Formats: sequence, C-alpha cells, structure tokens
Amino acid sequence: MAWYPGAKKMELQPESDQQPAIKPTQFILHSIVAPWTPQRTYEYWRDSTNLESHFGLGYDGSLGQFIGTQTRADANGPANRRPDGTGAVSLESASNLQASDPWTAAQVEAIVRLGVWLHQTHGIPLRICRSADDPGYGYHRLHTAWNPDAHSCPGDARVKQFHEVVFPAIVARATGKATDSKELDMDEDKVFDAVWEQDKAPAPSTSSTAKSNPTWKPISFLREMYDLLTGMKKDIDALRAEVATLKKGA
Ligand SMILES: [Zn+2]
Repeated sequence: MAWYPGAKKMELQPESDQQPAIKPTQFILHSIVAPWTPQRTYEYWRDSTNLESHFGLGYDGSLGQFIGTQTRADANGPANRRPDGTGAVSLESASNLQASDPWTAAQVEAIVRLGVWLHQTHGIPLRICRSADDPGYGYHRLHTAWNPDAHSCPGDARVKQFHEVVFPAIVARATGKATDSKELDMDEDKVFDAVWEQDKAPAPSTSSTAKSNPTWKPISFLREMYDLLTGMKKDIDALRAEVATLKKGA
C-alpha cells in the first residue's frame, strides 16, 4: 500500500487492513459538501459511515490520507474496485454546503501535486477517463457508473476548473512543461510577443510624443536606436568626406 508523502497519514481502521487491494488506474475528485478539514473528514469516515475516500483536502490545501492508494476506498461506486482488481483513487475536498464554490488556489495546487504523484507512482495515464473503466483522471459526475445517485459532485465551478486549470496543470507538470502552478504553454511567437510586444516601458524623456504615447514597446526602442545610429553613421561619413575635401584644398 502506498502513502503519499505530501499528505498527513490518518489511517482509517479497520478498513485499511480489511479492504482488498487494488491496482490504482484512475483518480476521481469529489466535493464533500461541507467546509471540513482533513481531520474532520477523517472523523466522519471513522464515526459516521462505512464509506471513505483515500484523501481529504481542506480549503487551505492541507491534505490527509486515510487509506493506502493500493487498497480499495469506497467513494466512487463500482469504480472503487472492478472485478479485474483495478480501481480508482478518490479525493474529497472541502466545499461550501451547496458544493457550488470553486477550489481555492491552495486546493488546486494540492490536487495538481497529488495528480502528478499518482502518474509517477502508479502510472495513471495523463488523460481524462473516456469511459467508466478507462484509466485516467476525472471527477465524480463524469461517468454515470461512478455516480448512480446522479450527484452534481464536485459542482459546476469545479468541473470547469478541472477542465481548464487542474487537469492541464497535471499534464504540464508531469511532462516537465511547467515547474510551478503557472502554466507555461507558449510557442515561439507567443514568447516573442510576451517580451517584445509589451507596451509598458516608459517612453524616452526626449520623445516628442511622450505625452500622447507615454509607454513604448521594447521593439520600438530597438528600431528607434537602429534608425538613429544609421543616420549618425551617414552624417559622420559625410563629415569625413568634407574634411578630406577641405584638407585637399588647403
Ligand atoms: Zn462525489
């Protein structure tokens, strides 16, 4: 059984010892419809129900792990453990009582890190599950088979975040295309524009249009200087020629 080093281990018994092994092939995200810390979620699983998730995530990004990732946890219906022994790793996250709020930045970061670890540790492929038993990443309501009671879990705002921020960040980070939470998915043209086309540098104090055009793009400085230097070189060449003519005449 595997314990994620980025989470606080809060082992849930007797489930941890008694439930069967799985080969984890999916990662499924949930909202718990309560603003709970990992500790509170652990207590709920321990005291109030025989269900449980592998992980619990607080609003501040704190993460608890209740069951090893190679042991079945019971949050995703039939995806918990399939007849072939494969199953889903589940994460419950703190939310408001309607599960309508987006994940906080700290929650997004924690999910992305865990998602990368699951790819590296268990080889979960970097794709969104195309069917209920297809290996990959998803959220509770993505497939009806995971969600027989038709919960909206994890909520519209988080479904949007999953597609636009969370999953792309897991892929970017796992494939080495980004080193932190800011996605750096830029081709050469975008990098050029991001550097040379930023109209932010203060215009030169001697600029005749300083009032109407107070900021310049870096590319404008370069062009201005090139034109200026080319003009100066022409002037110098002309002066040289004049001096040579004068000397001859002297
Ligand atoms: Zn759920």
